[in-house]
Amino acid sequence: MANDVMQQMNDPMGSAIADFYRTGKADTLVVRSSMFEDDEIPVETLFREFEEMPELEQIALKAASGDILDVGAGSGCHSMALEKMGKKSVAIDISPLSVEVMKERGVDARLVNLYDESFSEKFDTILMLMNGTGIVGRLENMPGFFGRIKQLLKPGGCVLIDSSDLRYLYEEEDGSFMIDLSDEYYGQLDYQMAYKDVEGEPFDWLYVDFETLSFYAEQAGFKTELVAEGEHYDYLARLSCN
Ligand code: SAH
Repeated sequence: MANDVMQQMNDPMGSAIADFYRTGKADTLVVRSSMFEDDEIPVETLFREFEEMPELEQIALKAASGDILDVGAGSGCHSMALEKMGKKSVAIDISPLSVEVMKERGVDARLVNLYDESFSEKFDTILMLMNGTGIVGRLENMPGFFGRIKQLLKPGGCVLIDSSDLRYLYEEEDGSFMIDLSDEYYGQLDYQMAYKDVEGEPFDWLYVDFETLSFYAEQAGFKTELVAEGEHYDYLARLSCN
């Protein structure tokens, strides 16, 4: 099989990113979850420039300093904005086509899974944006996630990560929330992406409220700070470790 066909097979988002980069347009990038109706990601938003980014992302980019790791970097939009600010970053992603596009855009991009310990560089700032907690997948993965983050941080370094509290999905008309506490944590979603005839594997994607994130971060020895809140249950957190 030709290499480019192989690469597309499990990489719907990378296929969309590559199409948009090469032709200036893309088909619909579909996101499926058992929690809601099919949704779509407008592919051009993956190429957003600093001015078009949500304020929480702009704050994170301004706060990032030293050697920066852009985790799950996608099209490389954050790394490119950092470069314009005179800052240095390494971008990692598990999507082969995204990494290829990032390299073509001049980003120092590597095809690396965050959890792959053979990647052993250390950073002052780890950026995880556009629901950065998604990569954690499920709450039970939190200890492993923070253990891995510690390996990647220089002394005094920090993680800047954004997420949303999905409790609004359970809001009643009177403003109260109907959450069944015997159920699994409400921010744990199953996702699957599709682009043209490319169907991705299903994966876990975690949205987590700031308090729950802080609980796990503090257990792992991190200090937590709510840097800023967005307009719709979204927030940016700074997690640091001495
Ligand atoms: N940060 C980018 C893209 C967000 S989408 C933006 O804001 O536009 C999430 C990205 O994380 C996808 O590109 C996906 O391929 C990548 N990803 C998912 N799991 C990963 C992992 N374990 N290690 C590295 N990247 C991962």
